[in-house]
Amino acid sequence: MKGAGKSRRPKAQEYRNLYLSTPVMMHSIDGAGRLVAVSDYWLEVLGYQRVEVIGRKLTDFFTGKSRDLAEETVLPHFFEIGSVKDIPYQMVTKAGETLDVLISAKSVRDAKGKILYSMAGIVDITERKKAEQEVQHLAHYDPLTGQPNRFLLQERLQHALIQAQREDNKVGVLFVDLDHFKWVNDTLGHACGDDLLKKVSRKMQDCVRHGDTVARLGGDEFVIVLCGFSSDDELSHFAQRFLETLARPVALEGIEVLNSASIGIAIYPIDGRDVDTLLRNADAAMYSAKEHGRNNYQFYSSEMNQKMLARLGMESRLRRALKNREIYLEYQPQLDLRSRCISGFEALVRWRDPDLGMIPPVEFIKVAEECGLIYPLGEWVLLTACLQAKAWQDQGLPRVRMAVNVSSTQFRRHDFIDMVEEKLRISGLAPEYLEIELTESLVMENLQQGLERLTDLKIRRIKLAIDDFGTGYSSLQYLKHFPFDRIKIAQEFVQSIPDNPEDVAIVEAILAIADNLNLEVLAEGVESHRQFDYLYASSCTEIQGYYFARPQTAEHLTAFLRSHFAQRDNHPLTGDLPEDSSDA
Ligand code: C2E
Ligand code: MG
Ligand code: MG
Repeated sequence: MKGAGKSRRPKAQEYRNLYLSTPVMMHSIDGAGRLVAVSDYWLEVLGYQRVEVIGRKLTDFFTGKSRDLAEETVLPHFFEIGSVKDIPYQMVTKAGETLDVLISAKSVRDAKGKILYSMAGIVDITERKKAEQEVQHLAHYDPLTGQPNRFLLQERLQHALIQAQREDNKVGVLFVDLDHFKWVNDTLGHACGDDLLKKVSRKMQDCVRHGDTVARLGGDEFVIVLCGFSSDDELSHFAQRFLETLARPVALEGIEVLNSASIGIAIYPIDGRDVDTLLRNADAAMYSAKEHGRNNYQFYSSEMNQKMLARLGMESRLRRALKNREIYLEYQPQLDLRSRCISGFEALVRWRDPDLGMIPPVEFIKVAEECGLIYPLGEWVLLTACLQAKAWQDQGLPRVRMAVNVSSTQFRRHDFIDMVEEKLRISGLAPEYLEIELTESLVMENLQQGLERLTDLKIRRIKLAIDDFGTGYSSLQYLKHFPFDRIKIAQEFVQSIPDNPEDVAIVEAILAIADNLNLEVLAEGVESHRQFDYLYASSCTEIQGYYFARPQTAEHLTAFLRSHFAQRDNHPLTGDLPEDSSDA
């Protein structure tokens, strides 16, 4: 190409223009560190006019810390070294904003080696730094409450233990679990649940001193690490104060919600010397607080660990049992005292563990509620019971009720009604043959919501019974507001009639109220002839108990039912039952 070899050398002015207009932050300083030239972009980013900066020291535009670093360690040696690369500094814009930058510089000498100036390029890494910090934050803090997460908790606790060891101090680890969080989440929705967690975490933070840690482990579990206390009493006071603070109602979407928590306390060094042991033991103490009726705190003791291990063992066994069909149902007939015919059944869940044998429902239902297994378990029970009731009807046996126990956790879940409807649909059982048994305390715990849900069931023609009545200490007055069909008098009162006058009085009172409110009454746990006679002569409508029939599997019961219903017209029950006078 013509002239290619003799390309024109750029003039100094062109270099100068290039330097000024390049979209990179560039500056040059003299031997005294004063700015002699800056690029336009340098001015743009830092927000200055050229006249405001030329002749001033570069370090005037640094933060104090960076200025010290530059003036004390970098600049004094820089002209000897000749170049530096990617030194992290912080600069300050005219508006006062801090920028994170990396500066690389090279000194320029004349032919004799005399230093003329140095030229530097700056990379603004503020955004990158921010992103890095965000990642750091996400890795260490809970996004919802902004409190340290499990990871940072472990780090902080570790640090606190090292310090406590050095100074011969104690460290308190408080495991906090909210008592009714599930209820809030299930009934008021997740947004309210989140709101509650934020509010509670703020309350916690307000209770601790500077330097103490409040961490969220997940769900409604928090851990508080307290340092620098002198006696265990101080921990008690703290826990007490916190429970009191928590007891003040908070407003969630206009609804006042009362709150409480169960707190377990473990102390370094007596309850553990390392992070894992202390957290585990505080957790075990928290479980014990739950068992003590919630809304309280418990200090760790070694027996708690045994219990916790047993509970964990039970949980994994139960998971397996659900998969392996170790769970089955038995049905206990209920007898109508007027017609002397079977009027219904109660489905009772059974678990035969291959190693431990039969495990009573009162033991595993509680564990299932705590770990959430109650939902699949409860669904299985309901469906199986409905299918069995329908199967007996299809075999030509008289149509009677099937009563199914429902635990509070199940009942409170927002999709409970849908779940029940689904089971009725799948089984083909008409809703009037299903009876839901609820305990008294469950309904009393949350009157408004309980009432709405019961009404929903009632509208669908499902029967409702209040189980173990008399044990929940609720006001009998409440009963008239609820659409129950039946009261089941708790076994403990039936057991000592007719000899114990106090229990007789309670039973009489329940019968009178039920009569007044037009409710049916079923006496549970009837075992003896004397109990039976007494109830038979009273206004009690039904009985259930070993005296008439024990709970049995469907297989065993089918033959019994056939003969029972076949004989109903002449002599429904064998031997010991008295003649029904109303037949005469
Ligand atoms: P519950 O609903 O009050 O059930 C009655 C309990 O009394 C049953 O105990 C039954 O076997 C027992 N029983 C019946 N007749 C007599 C009697 O004459 N004498 C004595 N001493 N006991 C009698 P079980 O089967 O051990 O159930 C205990 C509790 O476990 C039930 O009390 C109920 O609250 C709960 N439960 C049982 N099955 C289920 C279930 O499928 N779901 C839920 N959520 N709870 C269940
Ligand atoms: Mg029951
Ligand atoms: Mg009962």
